[in-house]
Amino acid sequence: MSILSILHYPDKRLRNVASSVTSINKKIQTLIDNMFETMYLQEGIGLAATQVDIHKRIIVIDTSKQKNEKIVLINPKFLNKYGSEIFEEGCLSIPNMRVYVSRSSTVKIEAFNYYGKKFFLKATGLLSSCIQHEMDHLIGKLLIDHSIRKL
Ligand SMILES: [Zn+2]
Repeated sequence: MSILSILHYPDKRLRNVASSVTSINKKIQTLIDNMFETMYLQEGIGLAATQVDIHKRIIVIDTSKQKNEKIVLINPKFLNKYGSEIFEEGCLSIPNMRVYVSRSSTVKIEAFNYYGKKFFLKATGLLSSCIQHEMDHLIGKLLIDHSIRKL
């Protein structure tokens, strides 16, 4: 595995819109392995491929304390979003900034996993905020684009 370098704001490549993954193969799986390694090293809870300059719809997440609950989202799509909640967030692409962001409290999504199997996920709390944050990255949207309040 290898550590990938993370793009930092205001790098314009963070504004690219990612394209869908057409084939979940060994190359994509290696990228995902490297994204997890990079995310854990940086002590993040989520990383979008956009942040490592790969403009494909791929996200890795692990919001667990023990760092043993890997979630892979390939070509994720919102099926439903509801409620409203203020979340405290940071971003590996904007170091040293923590902000409050208003988002949907609950999201339902569908995505493909590491093995190319389609699955559904309903998320609340930290996982919900993380999914919405990372899905923003795939369309070139950053924390600072939300109306936010700095901590
Ligand atoms: Zn981010």
